[in-house]
Amino acid sequence: MINVRKTLFTIPLLLGLLSRPALAQVILIDPGHGGEDCGAKTAYSKPKANSQFICEKDLALRIAKKIQQKLKKNYQVYLTRSLDRTLSLEERAELADKIKADIFVSVHLNSAHTKSGHGYETYYLDNHKDEAVKKIESIENRDAKGDEMIINQILADLVIQRTAPSSKRLATLIHSNITTRVKTKFNLTDRGIKPALFYVLALSKRPSVLLEAGFISNDKDIEKILSESFQNRYADGVARGIRQYFKKKKKLPIF
Ligand SMILES: [Zn+2]
Repeated sequence: MINVRKTLFTIPLLLGLLSRPALAQVILIDPGHGGEDCGAKTAYSKPKANSQFICEKDLALRIAKKIQQKLKKNYQVYLTRSLDRTLSLEERAELADKIKADIFVSVHLNSAHTKSGHGYETYYLDNHKDEAVKKIESIENRDAKGDEMIINQILADLVIQRTAPSSKRLATLIHSNITTRVKTKFNLTDRGIKPALFYVLALSKRPSVLLEAGFISNDKDIEKILSESFQNRYADGVARGIRQYFKKKKKLPIF
């Protein structure tokens, strides 16, 4: 019997392989959430009078596709999902192995219980003691189950040992380019680069970052994030950072 899920997974991969530049570095862009998992959700009343719900998963996909477009000329760039579909953290990571990705970039949007939280931030995998970051982790890690969490913490330590300096460098380059492209233009708050234990990054086992492009729970942020101009400039910042990362990068052996 044909495994429809696997087939759906393979077709975009084959298309990607046919069109990719030979020997180029491999980038896996991961639009967070999808399908049944909306991610963060907010009611937004502009520009229409009727309030509408906005899901993190949709904005993450839009931004991820823009990043892919900006890089695909020079690199092999894949998305973990190009449609609105449910995908576990493990499936995202498996794809990184399958295509032998050099880097993994997960795209998300933040949300807070109060409307005051705002700004963009960039995470890389490392240990830390920041309680505020632990709250974000609990949101983005909620897909992981009990047993997986224990295994993943052991795995996280191994991956950190091997990849933290590269991930931090990637995060630094991406973040500084995002800042150049959006901070002043959109009057956004730079919340900085932070270490965090996101399982999807640990599972990917390669230099990786997780982007939080802004707060969809904040009225001013969401207005900007919804604009094409913001999405283009943000994606451009990410793409520039990745290009700079690869310029001086030797390939890291994946284990
Ligand atoms: Zn998320």
